[in-house]
Amino acid sequence: MDLDAVLALPPFQALDPTRVAPLAAAMEECPADTDDEVARQDTDAEVMVVVLEGRLQVGWRDVEDGLEYVGARLGPGDFLGLSEILLNVAHPRSAWATEPSRVALLPREALLAACAGDPVLSTALYRLVAERLNTMAAPVGARIVDLARLKLDESLWGLLSLANIRKYRALPLARNGRVLVVGFANAGDLNAIDDVARLVSGYRVRAVALDGGEFERFLRTRVVPVLERVRPDENPRDRWFQVVSQKSTDVRLVDAMPSVAPEERGKAISGEMVVALVNRLIGEALELAASDIHVEPSEGELVVRYRVDGRLKRRPEPLDMRFHAPLVSRLKALGRMDIAEKRRAQDGRLSVEHGRRQIDFRLSTVPTRFGEKLVLRILDPQTILIDLERLILHDPTYQAMRWMIEQPQGLVIIAGPTGSGKTTTIYSALMRLREDEINIVTIEDPIEYTIEGISQVQVNDAAGVSFANSVRHFLRQDPDVIVVGETRDPQTASTTVEAALTGHLVFTSLHSNDALGSVVRMREMGVESFLLAHTLVGVVSQRLLRRTCPHCRQPTTYHPDLVQPLGLFGKDEGVGGFTFLKGTGCLNCNYQGYKGRVGVFESLRVDERLRPLIAAGETMIVIEKAAREAGLFLPLREHCRHLLINGITTPEEVARVLFVTD
Ligand SMILES: [Zn+2]
Repeated sequence: MDLDAVLALPPFQALDPTRVAPLAAAMEECPADTDDEVARQDTDAEVMVVVLEGRLQVGWRDVEDGLEYVGARLGPGDFLGLSEILLNVAHPRSAWATEPSRVALLPREALLAACAGDPVLSTALYRLVAERLNTMAAPVGARIVDLARLKLDESLWGLLSLANIRKYRALPLARNGRVLVVGFANAGDLNAIDDVARLVSGYRVRAVALDGGEFERFLRTRVVPVLERVRPDENPRDRWFQVVSQKSTDVRLVDAMPSVAPEERGKAISGEMVVALVNRLIGEALELAASDIHVEPSEGELVVRYRVDGRLKRRPEPLDMRFHAPLVSRLKALGRMDIAEKRRAQDGRLSVEHGRRQIDFRLSTVPTRFGEKLVLRILDPQTILIDLERLILHDPTYQAMRWMIEQPQGLVIIAGPTGSGKTTTIYSALMRLREDEINIVTIEDPIEYTIEGISQVQVNDAAGVSFANSVRHFLRQDPDVIVVGETRDPQTASTTVEAALTGHLVFTSLHSNDALGSVVRMREMGVESFLLAHTLVGVVSQRLLRRTCPHCRQPTTYHPDLVQPLGLFGKDEGVGGFTFLKGTGCLNCNYQGYKGRVGVFESLRVDERLRPLIAAGETMIVIEKAAREAGLFLPLREHCRHLLINGITTPEEVARVLFVTD
């Protein structure tokens, strides 16, 4: 194939043309007609396939339950076979064209020969594989059963009444001895799975996920005629909503519910329906352990997405746009926001009781082309307030952090990109310090969670409450510990250092990539080297990794060529392959193989041995070398290695934080 054409393909775009040339020489274009298979499950990958035109469907048969699952649809620029060839494993899935398509094929030998002759190319491709492994795991319901491709035993449907099939959105699919495979259109609903298991007593229920839309269609066209209880005038969306309304959830809104705006009355959406919908969405989010709920109007429907372990997952079933206006009005009223203002972004807060817990939400609205978008951020103390010892699982790093927070004065920087859990780390440190009965004040934007016994102030630029002038104000109130939510400008940087210089322990977060980079970042913001040297007691830099699901983790062997580029292990380690624990997917983790997240930290302690170097404005390399020799620096890789060896995360996740920049 033409080199320029190959360089335009996503997998090769970032590479140097001279590196891609041998690959391009070996690549060939070829047509794939509808139903032509380009990869077959359990066979060796002889070629890497890049889609040029058309669509491919990925699917596989599960050895455990014998069912066919469908995965991603591939379009132009998508590819498969690269990881299988590099990792020397068989195709885990099949792929076939669903329309006349064109693909580019790269033979295995050519790919391996090019990699063997060019370590830079092979590292780049392994990195790509690591990124792909992550994105492949991302979509919700990765193991969705394809009803259309399944041989179904209709006699099993009668095990549930039609009312229960609708109520639980569940359908018995197959039976194997005492094991009954039941498809659920909402596989995250564990209560439904429990209830269905009770209803079909005598069987052990194995739950699999169904696509919501496909379930509704299948129910209407196949199941209902079989079970012969058709109610033709029923609108499927309303029917779904009746189920929602009937379902008792233990979520209830703490504040009194104001009624829906008058202009919304008489449009078939009642106040109770909105309350039920809000409860349902919140209940689902808590069940999924989501951190945010996004409600986005689009053309014709209201899309709901949940952020779970840092990734946005689309709710399989969108909502009717008729819910948009009453939902926005209700939530804005609860968040004490201006209901009439629809063209300006707003922020508010609200609380719900879930079981015995009260859960706070931060609500924000943003105007979009199709109306206001809502984002509910769940401020769950169980995820925000974590004991430092449970937060930092690597003991040497934990000890380093303890040393920092036990200093009577000085500056502690928590560094990392947005969404790396910096706030949680600062809160964990404060929870520890709070026990000492000292005066702690914070200035934050926004206040993520209210902590008893600590004075927290919200930045409000319009009202003249900035990070910098709040710190000056605090200094007059004789605090022991000051938290400056984020140092993002020279003025805040100098005020922060000034506070640390005058006998206070100061914590701040900084948007920077690593511990040593934070020293440079502070200098760039105009802090004099000698002041920084005199005040800095430590820097902790962090990232979040997805945590391997403890319910389905299994020893998995990785080829050394995938693990060694991570730089965590010696050349003599893992010669025959590395075995780590990896989640295989189960109901507990919604078939993601990951459940929850875990922090990975790099730490730099600063003591008298490093101060002269920082004061002299030495380079990062010089400071790092001295810090390593003095045992003051614990690199991110060491922490990653610890988590891998202990089965807490996977090489794919480690590769993501080490190689993929945010
Ligand atoms: Zn699991």
